[in-house]
Amino acid sequence: MDGRQTRPAGAAAARRAGGRRVTGPQALAVAVETPQHSAVGGLLDYTSERPLAPGTLLRVPLGRREVPGIVWDRGPAPPAAGLELRPVGTVLSALPPLPADWRALVDFAAAYYQRGVGELALAVLPPELRKLDDTQLARRVARLQREAAAPSAAVPAPPARPVLSAEQAAALEIVSRADRPLLLHGVTGSGKTEVYLRAAEQALAAGRQALVLVPEINLTPQLQARFAERFPGRVLVSLHSALTPAQRLRHWLLAHLGLADLVLGTRLAVFTPLPRLGLVVVDEEHDPSFKQQEGARYSARDLAVWRAAQRGVPVLLGSATPSLESWQRALQGRYRRVEMAERIGGGAMPRVRIVDMSVLPRPAQGERVLAPALLDALHGRLARGEQSLLLLNRRGYAPVLHCAACGWKSGCPHCSAWRVFHKGDRTLRCHHCGLTERVPRACPDCGNLDIAPIGRGTEKLQEQLAALLPGARIARLDADTTRGAGMLEQQLGAVHAGEVDVLVGTQMLAKGHDFRRVTLVAAVNPDAALFSSDFRGPERLFALLMQAAGRAGRDAAQAAASEMWVQTHHPRHPLFAALRAHDYPAFAAAQLEERRQAGLPPCAALALLRAEARDAAVATAFLHDAAALAAGGDFGGGVTVYPPVPPPVSKVADVERVQMLLESPSRRALQALLAGWLPALHGLRAKHKGLLRWAVDVDPLAI
Ligand SMILES: [Zn+2]
Ligand SMILES: [Zn+2]
Repeated sequence: MDGRQTRPAGAAAARRAGGRRVTGPQALAVAVETPQHSAVGGLLDYTSERPLAPGTLLRVPLGRREVPGIVWDRGPAPPAAGLELRPVGTVLSALPPLPADWRALVDFAAAYYQRGVGELALAVLPPELRKLDDTQLARRVARLQREAAAPSAAVPAPPARPVLSAEQAAALEIVSRADRPLLLHGVTGSGKTEVYLRAAEQALAAGRQALVLVPEINLTPQLQARFAERFPGRVLVSLHSALTPAQRLRHWLLAHLGLADLVLGTRLAVFTPLPRLGLVVVDEEHDPSFKQQEGARYSARDLAVWRAAQRGVPVLLGSATPSLESWQRALQGRYRRVEMAERIGGGAMPRVRIVDMSVLPRPAQGERVLAPALLDALHGRLARGEQSLLLLNRRGYAPVLHCAACGWKSGCPHCSAWRVFHKGDRTLRCHHCGLTERVPRACPDCGNLDIAPIGRGTEKLQEQLAALLPGARIARLDADTTRGAGMLEQQLGAVHAGEVDVLVGTQMLAKGHDFRRVTLVAAVNPDAALFSSDFRGPERLFALLMQAAGRAGRDAAQAAASEMWVQTHHPRHPLFAALRAHDYPAFAAAQLEERRQAGLPPCAALALLRAEARDAAVATAFLHDAAALAAGGDFGGGVTVYPPVPPPVSKVADVERVQMLLESPSRRALQALLAGWLPALHGLRAKHKGLLRWAVDVDPLAI
């Protein structure tokens, strides 16, 4: 970095003279991508011959390179006197400046999640913007505006809207006069989507834009189709990582120029500039995929709430099993809870049957896959031509291969994890670093030819079911069977067309698919999540099972006969009692009490400082020094710093990871410590040779 001619535009106390007329070149603060955790906060000073509005996209020299940047609001610091500033480079004047509310969102997120403003701002823009010059950009903007102005072809009439249920009508009424974020707690099939559609209709009718966030857009083509069908003639764009760079730029430009009415997207869409924003919806708000897990680790759900408040527009968080964070806020009155307890058409929730696997006798040979009663129930569905879903949250054939002679197991040489046996292509694959090798013919350590899989994944379950249910058409839905383009749609199409009797799959099964002919859902082995080291394990499991249960009996005619089966060795676990009663509030109350006693979110605020090195001792030493700095510094009190520990999977791709937990009952106290302490950590780095990187994760999902 060229430190002589650019300098950090930090927060000095002096206030800039307001309204002063400046002749000649003017100093500007520009947000640029600085190397992660360089000491520069991401704003650098440059000069410009002509005034440039904050939010203007441009290129600026940085060292010997030219990098993209955004003119930023200066804040209270005046440009330093006596420093020779470099002039800005190309200005992309074809693009309207990124608006003030967008910059405020980025400022807030950068401060809260402890990242550089420039790093975050540029990371959330479409990458294609970096490649275009001003002329090319001007051409694209002009084309979009021309297309928008052209008289459109005959617009099909919108379909007749369904009559709202009493609950839907009440929910919609609350949306229209919302004074705080709304938590729409609606059971699967209660018609939350119709509430989103009507709320969007109100926003559009008022000349506003609607932003709808979904966890995984590839799994929800149906939602996009419903919005497109409901609003013919309106411009609906999607924003997610599966778009081509050109599509993503086009969709983003349509939103930013105010030409798109509806933006449907995954977490990155929360940063879309929307000049006419009038409504924010977060569907399946509990879903962990709203948390970005790399780079700037932000929660799109939490930012959506902040953004809506800042713009003074309604925000609707929908879920059948809300996150405990949102549920607690609703209990505290910070969010308003809206209940939708009835399924549309009067369908009942499936009957939940908990099977105690611990009392079943061992079969004469082999292992027990399904309880006899569940197998009977599956035969019954087959005979009646109904469909069944079997949930097993582990893909591959078996989680590990094992040699009984010498004890060898199929560990990954680069990670502290087993390599998973995939029988279809005879490979051992590491799901952490991706290392894939042919399955050895014999034990690599002792040459024993008899190496055997331990445990069971979806691939093996499918094979075992084929033996248990001869003649049944059995398909599998997981990350391995849906890898190719269009594969997911193809598989779902086969299910909808009735070409599948039993569908085996991972949690992918539970996500939003509208299976009309399914009357039985079974969780084959959910026990691992009950006692997992992840404190959110039970919350996740409950959400998954409730969601899976919601797949059964969506047609009211079949609802009476629909069932959810759970095979477990712990049938008396309170989670299953709540599941049987479809009682989310009871489950949430019990979990919140546990979290309160354990000092875990949402009853405490957490941050994780992670360090990575080839040698775990190096990462640990860095964290120890960091802890000493936190203890010695004057950053306010009320934050507990725990000793460094390895995470559950400590080595990935030959890099050792160590992490240190910070906990406080007060979010504010934690934020105050982070703001003062993290900048001081930059100075520690030089002392720890071999430290590859360090980063902080505010509000981590797992610890
Ligand atoms: Zn061996
Ligand atoms: Zn690996």
